[in-house]
Amino acid sequence: MNHYLVFIESKNGQISKGSRDLLIKASLLANSSSAKVSALAIGNNLQDLASQVQSLGATTLYVSDEASNLPYECLRYVDLLNKVWSATGPVTILANRDGLTRDLLPYFAAKVGVPIVSDCVSIETSEEGLIVEKPFFAGKCVARGLLSSQGAILVCRPNSFDVVEVAPSDKLDQVSISSSLENTKAKFESENQVSSEKVSLSDASIVVSGGRSLKSGENFAILEDLAKTLGAAVGASRAAVDAGYVPHEMQVGQTGKTVNPKLYIACGISGAIQHLAGMKTSKVIVAVNTDPEAPIFQVCDYGIVGDLFEVVPALKQSFSKLLNQ
Ligand SMILES: Cc1cc2nc3c(=O)[nH]c(=O)nc-3n(C[C@H](O)[C@H](O)[C@H](O)COP(=O)(O)OP(=O)(O)OC[C@H]3O[C@@H](n4cnc5c(N)ncnc54)[C@H](O)[C@@H]3O)c2cc1C
Repeated sequence: MNHYLVFIESKNGQISKGSRDLLIKASLLANSSSAKVSALAIGNNLQDLASQVQSLGATTLYVSDEASNLPYECLRYVDLLNKVWSATGPVTILANRDGLTRDLLPYFAAKVGVPIVSDCVSIETSEEGLIVEKPFFAGKCVARGLLSSQGAILVCRPNSFDVVEVAPSDKLDQVSISSSLENTKAKFESENQVSSEKVSLSDASIVVSGGRSLKSGENFAILEDLAKTLGAAVGASRAAVDAGYVPHEMQVGQTGKTVNPKLYIACGISGAIQHLAGMKTSKVIVAVNTDPEAPIFQVCDYGIVGDLFEVVPALKQSFSKLLNQ
């Protein structure tokens, strides 16, 4: 029987939006091929996850609480994944693309000898196997491939799949796993936790981004203002990051984060290919730029030729009115 295993991220006992979306996708894939859906959670505060994954169709939750308060360490996580893999046999692992999974899963794929596809934006079932799609060359091309192997790892771009209602599973088995690794070769030095109440950039369904033309970090306040009205996250181009206006975790693009929101508002961003690499699959792109020849206007759905210092506050005012009606 096919088996999908979703790698869960959670914070304070709440499953992330990205993991929720993947569980929904796994349930839909499982329904169309009589397969099973399991979830794997490693970390702390995991006791409340059972009901959440069950409500999204999972029938087994593999959980390791021993990692509580221990920082991420690749070989220990590989050992935990291996325990699950030994119990389940080859499965299709679905995970969201982030720093942790980009470090962990290629290593694990090589260890167990299965294919890995990074940056998946589409997964469908077929008689021959799974058909997956991933963009490349900054979204200019889309590769479509068939995975016919038993077992594979699919690292997915956030917000790629439809969010629909799925039936909860009748029952959930909870299985504890623990690592037998005492010492690993890696030595933990320190961790930089960025704690923020703001909407996470990777998960956000609306992103407002600014570029070099913002001229200072303080001026990003006008984007924050618009973002607050829309419940959006704020991103930036590399030029804005390199100029020191905002931190690197806000950078969108080839060497920053990949976002895939329903709405991306690019303010004073030229549309360099490396920026497009991180946002081109956004469902609707709006660009605000003073230069009517700016390349961003080639990819946007709606373009506003104008000064962002006038347009952004006007947008904020209009959205406030609309949303408060
Ligand atoms: C290896 C490599 C990796 C890279 N990775 C990334 C990456 O991950 N992300 C990324 O973003 N870039 C990346 N870059 C840099 C990229 O090539 C561009 O230099 C960068 O995206 C430009 O940022 P920008 O659009 O803010 O600035 P600019 O290119 O300087 O564009 C500013 C734009 O603002 C407009 N403008 C000016 N004033 C106003 C105003 N008042 N109102 C409205 N519009 C105005 C201008 O017309 C212009 O189009 C990378 C480059 C390399 C070589």
